[in-house]
Amino acid sequence: MQDDPNAGNGPASAGDVLAVFRSLGPQTRAEVMERTGLSRSTVTQRLDALLAHGLVVPAGEQRDDVPSRGRPAGQFAFHRDRGVLLVADVGASSLRVALCDLLGTVGLERSAVIDVASGPRAVLDVVDGLFRELLDASGRPAAAVHGIGLDVPGPVDFAAGTVVSPPIMTGWDRFDIRGWFAERYPCPVMVDKDVNAMAFAEHRAAHPDVDALLMLKIGTGVGSGIIAGGRVYRGADGAAGDIGHVQLDTGDGSDPPLCRCGNVGCLEAYASGWALVRDLRAAGRDVQGVDAALALAATGDPEAARFLRRAGRLLGGAVAEAVSLLNPRVVVLGGQVAASAGDQLVAGIRELVYRRSLPLATARLQIVPSALGTRAGLVGSALLLADVVFAPSRVGALLAG
Ligand SMILES: [Zn+2]
Repeated sequence: MQDDPNAGNGPASAGDVLAVFRSLGPQTRAEVMERTGLSRSTVTQRLDALLAHGLVVPAGEQRDDVPSRGRPAGQFAFHRDRGVLLVADVGASSLRVALCDLLGTVGLERSAVIDVASGPRAVLDVVDGLFRELLDASGRPAAAVHGIGLDVPGPVDFAAGTVVSPPIMTGWDRFDIRGWFAERYPCPVMVDKDVNAMAFAEHRAAHPDVDALLMLKIGTGVGSGIIAGGRVYRGADGAAGDIGHVQLDTGDGSDPPLCRCGNVGCLEAYASGWALVRDLRAAGRDVQGVDAALALAATGDPEAARFLRRAGRLLGGAVAEAVSLLNPRVVVLGGQVAASAGDQLVAGIRELVYRRSLPLATARLQIVPSALGTRAGLVGSALLLADVVFAPSRVGALLAG
């Protein structure tokens, strides 16, 4: 396609045509013309380029095609099994990896116990070991990997693919994650904040028609992910959504608690899993970690109940401000604490949101539990990665190369 500079890039690029197949499934030539407004000859050119590179195949040659369904003749489809994507959902104390098709559909999975504070090399060695296991199990070579995606529990400079000054990811500050994988795999590497991946997954899986969504993760820490215009909103530097470290004035005259980030009085220092553990221990309860603290809370422990009532109101105040700024249609509550004690938190969150935000913002607002639970990060990373790998500009480069 060297004679056609528009084959790769531009508003009617081959990547744009591929996007139609990726989002809508098998299409005939005429359907692609209708969706894109391109002429028959242009669609034919774009299709020829995509077919030559194996990104599109005649429908019926796909793994999951069902001939008996009577698929119309002349359809083409995105070749989702042309290669694989590898993703890792990295948490503070565990991680989960998956091998996915090129649409970002999660297939084989593995998991491991880690300490994210043991540093990037130790953790990435574990990730890569599991990636190799998945490739072996699927009979795919490393050359079949079209993209690698990681989501992590810390602030991420998305453009650079690095973690920046993370409170809990000791040793990861500006570590060259892309460079580390580039020595092992010849493909793009995406790094994102875990709650961005969760927000994207919840949007695609449960609220695809909603333009604006706020994902609130209440786990060991507190964070949020923002979907605006159907896409992840990361802000100018990737720091958008850092709701866990907004500072509160509780107005009760007490000294504000120290946060993991080094500041005092952050939302997270009052209303997170680690704050629950701290407060229960201070009250003489013998809890080792967040799981134990939540298990104690589930028994009706009065100290835990008091903490959760207060946490719900403080989280609600922060969510009310986010609702006023962003006007989401849906607020999704996820993370380990929300999953276990969501009922106790949600009353406080609702009360504050409906009291403090404008009726225009709350009239159609839904506050709902996570649809994907602990799978949201992994599922979202795979979907985000597929969009990065098959962005029209990158498809153009792929065809040109
Ligand atoms: Zn903080």
